[in-house]
Amino acid sequence: MAENAKKINIAICGGGIAGLALAAGLKKKDNIDFHVYESVPEYKDVGAGLALHMNAIKAMTLIGPEVRQVYFDKALDLGEEDQVMSTEVILAQGPNQGELVAELGKAKGRKTVSRADLLDGLMELVPKEKVTFGKRLDSIEENDEGVRIRFKDGSDARADCLIGADGIHSVTRSYILGPDHPATEPKNHDGWQIYRTMVSSEYARQHINPKWTQTVPILLGPRGHINCIPLNKGTRLSAGVAVRGAKFETSGKAPDLDPALYSDYSDDAQRIVKMVARDTSASWTAADHDHAPTYFKGKVAMMGDAAHASMPFAGNGAAQALEDAAVLDYLFSKVTDTAQIEAAFSAYDTTRRPRSQEVVDLARKFGRVYAYAEDGMHNDPTKMKQFFAGAAAFTNNADLQKQNDDAMGLFESAVKGGADGVEVKEADPIEVVA
Ligand SMILES: Cc1cc2nc3c(=O)[nH]c(=O)nc-3n(C[C@H](O)[C@H](O)[C@H](O)COP(=O)(O)OP(=O)(O)OC[C@H]3O[C@@H](n4cnc5c(N)ncnc54)[C@H](O)[C@@H]3O)c2cc1C
Repeated sequence: MAENAKKINIAICGGGIAGLALAAGLKKKDNIDFHVYESVPEYKDVGAGLALHMNAIKAMTLIGPEVRQVYFDKALDLGEEDQVMSTEVILAQGPNQGELVAELGKAKGRKTVSRADLLDGLMELVPKEKVTFGKRLDSIEENDEGVRIRFKDGSDARADCLIGADGIHSVTRSYILGPDHPATEPKNHDGWQIYRTMVSSEYARQHINPKWTQTVPILLGPRGHINCIPLNKGTRLSAGVAVRGAKFETSGKAPDLDPALYSDYSDDAQRIVKMVARDTSASWTAADHDHAPTYFKGKVAMMGDAAHASMPFAGNGAAQALEDAAVLDYLFSKVTDTAQIEAAFSAYDTTRRPRSQEVVDLARKFGRVYAYAEDGMHNDPTKMKQFFAGAAAFTNNADLQKQNDDAMGLFESAVKGGADGVEVKEADPIEVVA
């Protein structure tokens, strides 16, 4: 790039995993200037524990080995470095109680990380002056010069384009789709309530099988599935019961978690439910997005949960956010003129929308399978195993370098041939054996 050439100025709204991972890649590009605007004054640990699957690690590596390293530095080893471990999905109720039906994210040196720890690590890669906290995006306006964004505190900023990484309740999404579009607001079609507690690992070991404080189990049954995730280098445990079809009061309040409803679950599962029921203060109501018809409009695009929030059951939301960041980071390495921004966003949309929306669908299906609500699949553990194996192959085995290259191919042909040269491809069919 010529020394005096004008850099492309990108505003990123939202400094979560998506926004910061993208920023960590963009800071290495001479043709790009960027700024991250994050709404909260500081990060708080909201209790989300992440077990990043293979595609997340691959995406981080594409952005840069240092991004991947942050994850390895901040994460907790679940076992010995060489030990092969996984999220064990086990039937906890019914005639096949105790049967292991899936080993998700099976890998050597399996890890989990708290969202707050991962964000701290990513922040170390982004120059401090490039991130402003306490800036809540309120409205967006496009004009010939680019994008003007206004914040809740009355201030504003200008940029050549905006990438909204502002999470499930995204203002950017509302701008792109329109506030009244049926896919704008998150939905909870299956009535999921996640009862969750955060305890010290020491406390947990006194109340539940200590085995479940060191690994990531998902114990299945028709009145809810139970899940534990060790956090903060093994000093804390996030434990939860996810209930489908919860009978919410008209005020929106979920009913109390009643351990008596789980008396036909395995003993291990019952002990975890009892521990969670003692303190459900970390509970939340899950939601996801119906499919957006586009991930961009003009010079405004959305990524991560803003574009495709999914139920947490397939454990791939952050991974999809990182795949978005990898593709956008790669595309913007070649954007040298503001006139090329829309072609980059279009290539990103075409490449990432089908796959990320398949994951939203897949996560919903995981929820139904976990709740024994998918065509009697729980009566046939072999079928369940096939389903999980097919899903894992779809998320983990994807060739992400090819995904980046496909996006770049679309961008380059659009830039060479004009926007009409962009070929819009349909999603490759997902192969989930059910
Ligand atoms: C309990 C739980 C477990 C999960 N487990 C896994 C897992 O094991 N593996 C996995 O891959 N995924 C998992 N996920 C999903 C994963 O956490 C999300 O998909 C991921 O965090 C999305 O990142 P994001 O940056 O797009 O959004 P967010 O993490 O929501 O970040 C959005 C950021 O934008 C900020 N923001 C919001 N509004 C504005 C605004 N108006 N202006 C400026 N900033 C704004 C927010 O403060 C936030 O910092 C899990 C989710 C949950 C809830």
